[in-house]
Amino acid sequence: MLFANYRLGLALGLIALGFGAGLLQAANNAAAPGASEAAPPIEGMLKIDIHAHVFEDLPPYTEMLRRVNGRAVNVCVDGFDPHFELMHEIALDLYHRHPDLYPFTSTFPLKAINEPGYAKDVIGWLDRTFRNGAVAVKIWKDVGLGAKHPDGTFYLPDDPVFDPIYDHLAKVGKPLHAHLAEPLAAWLPLDPDSPHYTYYSNNPAWHLYQKPQFPSHATIIAARDRIMEKHPDLVVIGAHLGSLEHDLAGIAQRLDRYPNFFIEVAARTRNLIRMPSDKVRELFLKYPDRIMYGTDLGWKPFSGGQPTETLRRAYVARVEERYRADYAYYAGHGTMQYDGRTVQALGLPLSVLNKFYHENALRLLKLETAWAGVKP
Ligand SMILES: [Zn+2]
Repeated sequence: MLFANYRLGLALGLIALGFGAGLLQAANNAAAPGASEAAPPIEGMLKIDIHAHVFEDLPPYTEMLRRVNGRAVNVCVDGFDPHFELMHEIALDLYHRHPDLYPFTSTFPLKAINEPGYAKDVIGWLDRTFRNGAVAVKIWKDVGLGAKHPDGTFYLPDDPVFDPIYDHLAKVGKPLHAHLAEPLAAWLPLDPDSPHYTYYSNNPAWHLYQKPQFPSHATIIAARDRIMEKHPDLVVIGAHLGSLEHDLAGIAQRLDRYPNFFIEVAARTRNLIRMPSDKVRELFLKYPDRIMYGTDLGWKPFSGGQPTETLRRAYVARVEERYRADYAYYAGHGTMQYDGRTVQALGLPLSVLNKFYHENALRLLKLETAWAGVKP
C-alpha cells in the first residue's frame, strides 16, 4: 500500500517538478500587486489540508508545514485495518507533540459489526477519541463495499446499525467525514485517459466493473444521501467531492437539498482541472461555505516496506509540490500546467479562498479548540 502510493507519488512529484516554471508563473500572478482582492503568495494563506494521513513524526514534514503555513488534519482509516489501534496511537502522539499542526480524525472498527452491542461499543470508543482531541470521525468505502451482514449482503451506509452512532455524533457536534462509494470510474471499464486509471490498475480489488455482486455507485450514493436526510443535525463532509467528481450539477443538487452536507476536494483537484473552469468556478462561488481543501496524501509506514530518509524526504517534497500546484490552480489566474495538462486557473476571490482553505474547516472541525491541545 505504502509503496503503491509511493510510486504514484513519485510520478506525480516528477510531473509537478517538470512543470515547476508554469506553477510559479501562476502563483506569481496570484500575488500580483495592485488588486485589492489579490490572493497572497502561498505562505500568506493558511492552508488546512483536512484529508491527510501522516502516520510518523517526520521532522521535514513539520518543517514544511510551518514554512508554507499548512496544517494537516490527520485522518485515521480504515475500520478493518489490522493496525487500527496503532494508527490512532500514532495520530494521538503526533497531535500531542504538535497540536497546532496535526489535529486528528478518528474512525471506528468494523470487525464486530454483527456482534450484539456493536453501536454502543463504537460510541464508547469514539468518545474516548474525542476526549483525546479527535475533531471528526471518518467512515470509509468499506461501508457499502466491504462489511457484510451474516447473510452475505453488504452493509449500506444508512443501515440502521449506524443510526445510534450518527445520532451521537450529531449530539456531541462531531462531523462525519465520509468517503463513501468510489469515483464512478470504479464501475466503468479501465480507461487509460481517466485520472483514476493508475489507482484501479494497481488496486483491481476496488475496480468493480462487471462485478454485479457489489452495490452500484447510485445505490451507495443514495444511501449516503439518506444519512443527511435522516440526521439533519449531523454534519457530513463528503470526501473526494462526495464521490460525485463526474457531476458538478449533482454536487450542487445535494448542497441545495441538504444544508448539513459539505464537500472537500482531496485527490479530486485532478478531476476539477479537466472540467470547464467557468463551471468549476461557479460551484465555488455559489457554495463558498460548503467546500474545503484536502489532498489525501498519505504516509503509512506500518503498512509495510522499509521507509528510508530518501523516501521520507521525497514524500514531503511531493506534498509541498501538491500544495503549490493546487494553490496555483485555485488562486492563480490565466493558463498553467497541472499534472502535465494545460489548464485554466480558477482565480477565486480572496474571500472564497479564505473559506475554502481554512475558515470552513476552522468552523466545522472547531480547530481552534483542537489547536489549544489536550493534556496527554
Ligand atoms: Zn484518504
